[in-house]
Amino acid sequence: MKPSLVQFLKVFLLLALGRVTNTQVPDQDVLVSLGKLPLDGHFSFHDVSTAAWDFGNLSSFMPAAVLHPGSVDDIAATVRHVFLMGEHSTLTVAARGHGHSLRGQSQAAGGIVIKMESLRSVKMRVNSGASPYVDASGGELWINVLHETLKYGLAPKSWTDYLHLTIGGTLSNAGVSGQTFRHGPQISNVNELEIVTGRGEIVTCSPEQNSDLFHAALGGLGQFGIITRARIALEPAPKMVRWIRVLYSDFASFTEDQEMLISAERTFDYIEGFVIINRTGILNNWRSSFNPQDPVWASQFESDRRVIFSLEITKNYNPEEAENMEQEVNNLLSQLRYMPLSLFHTDVTYIEFLDRVHSSEVKLRAKGMWEVPHPWLNLIIPRSSIHTFAREVFGKILKDSSNGPIMIYPVNKSR
Ligand SMILES: Cc1cc2nc3c(=O)[nH]c(=O)nc-3n(C[C@H](O)[C@H](O)[C@H](O)COP(=O)(O)OP(=O)(O)OC[C@H]3O[C@@H](n4cnc5c(N)ncnc54)[C@H](O)[C@@H]3O)c2cc1C
Repeated sequence: MKPSLVQFLKVFLLLALGRVTNTQVPDQDVLVSLGKLPLDGHFSFHDVSTAAWDFGNLSSFMPAAVLHPGSVDDIAATVRHVFLMGEHSTLTVAARGHGHSLRGQSQAAGGIVIKMESLRSVKMRVNSGASPYVDASGGELWINVLHETLKYGLAPKSWTDYLHLTIGGTLSNAGVSGQTFRHGPQISNVNELEIVTGRGEIVTCSPEQNSDLFHAALGGLGQFGIITRARIALEPAPKMVRWIRVLYSDFASFTEDQEMLISAERTFDYIEGFVIINRTGILNNWRSSFNPQDPVWASQFESDRRVIFSLEITKNYNPEEAENMEQEVNNLLSQLRYMPLSLFHTDVTYIEFLDRVHSSEVKLRAKGMWEVPHPWLNLIIPRSSIHTFAREVFGKILKDSSNGPIMIYPVNKSR
């Protein structure tokens, strides 16, 4: 029996949308009372405008203050102070990870933004025992977690495509990438959390201890407490990755191959896909960003279809296992229905593969294209509707002038 499946689409459409700016005048007495709190870190009451911006670049809410916590106690004291103002107080508090939300979720109009990246008191600690894990601050970037755990030959199991995001930020959402079909999203790979609750208490929670809080905070959009520490499950890290892209001219073969691969017992380690509008130059751009090792094939590839689909897959391996990996990859590829001459592959280190979006960030920043508005849309689509969705959206709504990535993550609901 096939596992229950949903297709998760992340659609990034470049639309010209208006930017929402909201300014609320903060109460002076409140600011004075915050300034008197004894803290290891400090509050900023000026220069707070960087906390009124996020990656979406569509919403801007000016806070009254930014807390740079020097300890978890600073966060607890601040939240407790706000809680004790009573239910008539309109002062809001938002944790801010790396500020990569899209619509102001990590901002607080006239309120307090807690800059979680300032929280340096929680040191990263790797436990490399039988069930390895890392304890890390809620404000730690995933790229730093990767660097630290790799020193022990270990790495987290489930990722996002982009690693310059914080633990607290992605665990407040879900954290989805091409490993989700196997390990579930990042929130399914957490053993324990430390949380500052809405009353300003510091509580440890797990599936066994304070489990309601644990399950509410994971994917809780920061509304059930502030994650100050997370215990993330680890696995042995491979050294190398065979990174493969193949192209499909019809959606049915593409999606059926994705479903077959995520249902198979022995399969790839990462499975994603994306939609490509086939216009002059786009395939060349796509190839150059990926840098495949087989440019002869690449130069021969042609398709007259307006929209084509790319399946992106990887196989992890260590150098001494290269021969086995080749055999397994060839066996899996032989079962797929991609277009002949459309197979591109490259071999990279594990860290190069996981941090792949960062090199695009560097290029986009250099062109001034990173800090533009980002109206993104994430949809979860059940398998029963995916063909209708593809026909209507990719067939009728998508224009030749549409820009930006459209990604398709096949995931098993059971994970
Ligand atoms: C280039 C790019 C690529 C991305 N790729 C993926 C992807 O592949 N898969 C995926 O799942 N997502 C992806 N995302 C989305 C990303 O997971 C979310 O935008 C995430 O919220 C960003 O993390 P952040 O650390 O910047 O959080 P922020 O934007 O700072 O915060 C996000 C939310 O979490 C809350 N929050 C932050 N820290 C804490 C905390 N410690 N405790 C409690 N609440 C907290 C905030 O208040 C806010 O509501 C991507 C984003 C970008 C910009």
